[in-house]
Amino acid sequence: MTTEIETRERLAPGPASSSVLWEYAPSLESTDHVKIASRYNLFIGGKFVEPHSKKWFPTLNPATEEHLSEIAEADAEDVDRAVKEARRAYDKVWRKISASERAKYIFRIARLIQEKSRALAVAETMNGGKPIKESRDVDIPLAAAHFFYYAGWADKLEYAFPNRNVAPVGVAGQIIPWNFPLLMAAWKIAPALAAGNTVVLKPAETTSITALMLADILQEADLPPGVVNILTGAGATGAALVSHDGVDKIAFTGSTDVGKRIQRALAGTEKKLTLELGGKAPNIVFEDAPIDQAVEGIINGIYFNQGHVCCAGSRLFVQESVAEPVIRKLRDRIGTLRVGNPLDKNTDVGAINSRAQLEKIQELVASGVEEGAEMFQSSCSLPARGYWFAPTFFTGVSQSSRISQEEIFGPVLSVLTFRTPEEALEKANNTPYGLSAGIWTEKGSRILKMASKLRAGVIWANTYNKFDPTSPFGGYKESGFGREGGRHGLGPYVVLS
Ligand code: NAP
Ligand code: MG
Repeated sequence: MTTEIETRERLAPGPASSSVLWEYAPSLESTDHVKIASRYNLFIGGKFVEPHSKKWFPTLNPATEEHLSEIAEADAEDVDRAVKEARRAYDKVWRKISASERAKYIFRIARLIQEKSRALAVAETMNGGKPIKESRDVDIPLAAAHFFYYAGWADKLEYAFPNRNVAPVGVAGQIIPWNFPLLMAAWKIAPALAAGNTVVLKPAETTSITALMLADILQEADLPPGVVNILTGAGATGAALVSHDGVDKIAFTGSTDVGKRIQRALAGTEKKLTLELGGKAPNIVFEDAPIDQAVEGIINGIYFNQGHVCCAGSRLFVQESVAEPVIRKLRDRIGTLRVGNPLDKNTDVGAINSRAQLEKIQELVASGVEEGAEMFQSSCSLPARGYWFAPTFFTGVSQSSRISQEEIFGPVLSVLTFRTPEEALEKANNTPYGLSAGIWTEKGSRILKMASKLRAGVIWANTYNKFDPTSPFGGYKESGFGREGGRHGLGPYVVLS
């Protein structure tokens, strides 16, 4: 940690030494039943194959820095092999079988995810650092729910797009980030398969394990070889997939920087593109909001999943008349968040996903201190090994500061105030992003008015970070374009005539 961070104001002591909070006995999720292989190969044409490069890179547990496994690094030759397999499967099998047959496979994948949910949740937590209660209650059930939901659409496409002829796009290249590894894979694969496409998926470098466990599930579901191929590797693997001529569509979720690079690479080509990029969501609390409920929503909005959430409510706008109690309650509440072993069922905030991400958070937080904002940080004790960052918020933040403009992607909240709804709107819309927003007020009319003027793809009212496969998700402005989830999520995977 930087010296600036060490000058932080100390809060009431956190769980370890607090007198107001009970000491919970550890309740560790067992890892015995989870088989993580010592090495994973690429999943191409329904089989696990060695990478052409003969290179494997280590993957670790960010909470302990322990080595977990070795992951194959796919190069351009492997991308070519996988795309050709996906094309073959598309031409010879997937576009020929009936839609209700496709639905059966997708349904089977959903069932198998449910059956193996415990092992998937533990692996997700071990490789990604998120608390087990999140991977167990959010990530894995939602991944299964996405497959169930899109299994239902496969033979009903004519109802999704009435009076149109619906055809698949072809081979979809899909690139996903590390914050919701299996869930992002489900968001991408399920609608693509339902609409009749085949897939080459590139998981994030630091969190490949559950995608490879999904490859096992695809085999077990007897999915025809080549319908889904999974290529692990780093950014170069993703770039090779983007530029491969045999890919008809790219679906990307990740940072705005890489999204822009992909858009440039595809300019002038026939390939379809959807981008789900970064965010800097406003969470707006009006004076008539139920304050305790709002504080819980703010906490969930930013500290959930260590703030590794593109739609995290990372900017809090609170009406001046209630700023004092909201900030006081926020201070008290972050002091009670349990930070630590992600495998402990009591843990609220787990490990930061990687050293690189931790350094990025530290750098941005130091800039906030330097720019004169006042920092409050939980005084919870952090484990000695692994990547950790204590829940933090800033007050006295100016709108132009880096911490109110740039995505931190960590458990760090910037608090700003407003007097009128118009001022809240103007400030909330004042970022290059537009992914999501939250509104807290008792007045339904105010919710509707604010929602219609907020430039954000997803807006929650009196709640935050709620997801459902039936509901479309996506951004405005530099948060990208295209929608995932719901009937809208089929759109990018079909050609209509
Ligand atoms: P990232 O660095 O952009 O990486 C995303 C994916 O792209 C990873 O698989 C990455 O591989 C790959 N990649 C890197 N360089 C590439 C290139 N030149 N061409 C093609 N692929 C490339 O983002 P991240 O750090 O993993 O994820 C965090 C970001 O994702 C945040 O900005 C967050 O807001 C955004 N996100 C958005 C949504 C949404 O729905 N809008 C959802 C989740 C996350 P490596 O892992 O090997 O680098
Ligand atoms: Mg990266």
